[in-house]
Amino acid sequence: MAPLRITVWNEFRHEQQNPDVRRIYPDGIHQAIADGLTQELGDRISVRCATLDQPDHGLTEDALAQTDVLFWWGHMAHGDVRDDVVDRIHQRCLAGMGLIALHSAHYSKIFTRLMGTSCSLRWREAGERERIWIVDPSHPIVNGLDCESFDLPHAEMYGEFFDIPQPESLVLLSWFQGGEVFRSGCTFKRGKGKIFYFRPGHETYPIYYHAKIRKILANSAVWAAPTGAVYHTDSRHIPEFDT
Ligand code: ZN
Repeated sequence: MAPLRITVWNEFRHEQQNPDVRRIYPDGIHQAIADGLTQELGDRISVRCATLDQPDHGLTEDALAQTDVLFWWGHMAHGDVRDDVVDRIHQRCLAGMGLIALHSAHYSKIFTRLMGTSCSLRWREAGERERIWIVDPSHPIVNGLDCESFDLPHAEMYGEFFDIPQPESLVLLSWFQGGEVFRSGCTFKRGKGKIFYFRPGHETYPIYYHAKIRKILANSAVWAAPTGAVYHTDSRHIPEFDT
């Protein structure tokens, strides 16, 4: 079987500006995510990385045409992502490319466009404990996790209300030490494309090295891969039928 073609996109700004972030992710958050995917999925995938400052943000027509699943990490530079590139990603999503929106990608142009809501939430940066509960244990995104919940010792809190449309599946629900809860793993479909929003991953915590987080990321790539029938986006008048 041909390998699943994954592009891991990162705005790659925090790592260049903040030594604390660089210490945790010396080659960038994208590289840690790509390494985790390779560790889990080996030669079942081919992974490339793309970043904001590359021409066309590393997401040319050709690059997107050769992407089955796109991972997106952005935070401080959502506004710097060109609208024509967002249009291009949007079209690819509707045509079947999977999108994994990570952490602060809740406010990315592509995610808010696909959701159609504000995607606002509550947050607090206090390094508190997060417990992530698996609330849809039969979902392929949690294959092999072998637990009911797991803890991240230090996380940025994201709390409800998270202004998203009702997810197709709610897979993961977080509890935080301060008392808040959050829908941390949500799936959606838009056109022929599958979307997974996955909350963990603040830049000052080593979350993308965590074994269970890596397992979820790998499972989500496999789940979001394009499948299925021919997809036409134009409306068609069908004048005749055979009896
Ligand atoms: Zn954050």
